[in-house]
Amino acid sequence: MHQAMLYESLPKSKVRCNICQWRCQIGPGKGGVCKMYQNKDGVLYSMNYAQVSSVAVDPIEKKPLFHFFPGSLAFSIGGWGCNFHCQGCQNWEISCVDLPQLGRQIQPEEAVKLAKEYNCQGIAWTYNEPTMWFEYTLDSARLAKENGLYTVYVTNGYMTPEALDTIGPYLNAWRVDIKGFSDGLYRKLAKISQWHGILEVAKRAKNKWQMHIEVITNIIPAMNDDKTQLEGIAGWIHDELGELTPWHVTRFYPNHDMMDSPPTPISTLERAVDIGRKAGLKFVYVGNAPGHGGENTNCHKCGNIIIKRYGYQTEVIGIRGSKCKFCGAELNFKTA
Ligand code: SF4
Repeated sequence: MHQAMLYESLPKSKVRCNICQWRCQIGPGKGGVCKMYQNKDGVLYSMNYAQVSSVAVDPIEKKPLFHFFPGSLAFSIGGWGCNFHCQGCQNWEISCVDLPQLGRQIQPEEAVKLAKEYNCQGIAWTYNEPTMWFEYTLDSARLAKENGLYTVYVTNGYMTPEALDTIGPYLNAWRVDIKGFSDGLYRKLAKISQWHGILEVAKRAKNKWQMHIEVITNIIPAMNDDKTQLEGIAGWIHDELGELTPWHVTRFYPNHDMMDSPPTPISTLERAVDIGRKAGLKFVYVGNAPGHGGENTNCHKCGNIIIKRYGYQTEVIGIRGSKCKFCGAELNFKTA
């Protein structure tokens, strides 16, 4: 157990957790919505500090991040639990757990050491929602920055602004899910009613902390594949994060409690790409469809191919700093 950082004491030994936007009020002996934070006698504890569910050396493209240190390796670590309960969760074995699982531990010092040993340029907290072990990711991110590594959150974006401001100085990239663009969709898919805060925190990550942002939407047939959702997301990214922000529209495969839904047709992904382009986005990528031409990066100005991709294989052809090597157009790449 590790004492939580962001909570308030309330009467009768209750606490209010301020790590994510649920802001759970938790009575003594009880856990929050996520179950990963628990109140013991009026003190809030993280129950799974350094408890690792999954660890791997991944290409950064797997997060997916396409404009952030392309071709690099990220030391990727996941813990347990989630503050969302999404239908069709792709990582339900580690996310849909009611109790922290105690097993392998990797302390921040060891994570940094392993990242360097395996020639990774950075660390990504991924696989499950990283706010579920916020204190651990904060300690690790601090240490990673001291050691010259980049740091990445792969997140559903539901962190509070004050949690973001706590970890913001040590985070380089915010890879955020935007699952839809209506109250009904978020309520149905993720059982979340106050979802607009996700957008506000993403803007804050960009504007206040200058993080590199990429957005992903896993498109599920008959769930979030309609024009209203996709136009809403694409328009918001364009207006609030900027036309050079990458948007990944990825293929859903049946999983968890959505085994009866079909995989997303490729034509649906291509329609989403069209919607993104019409909204003015310069980089809309097709994901989970290896070999599809929509994985590649082309310069929006001269049209030259900048990066070729096949699944997680990457061939960098035309980047100079953040720009196109052929015509000098700004492409929003982070390479140093
Ligand atoms: S992190 Fe968990 S306990 Fe804290 S507010 Fe979010 S769901 Fe509730």
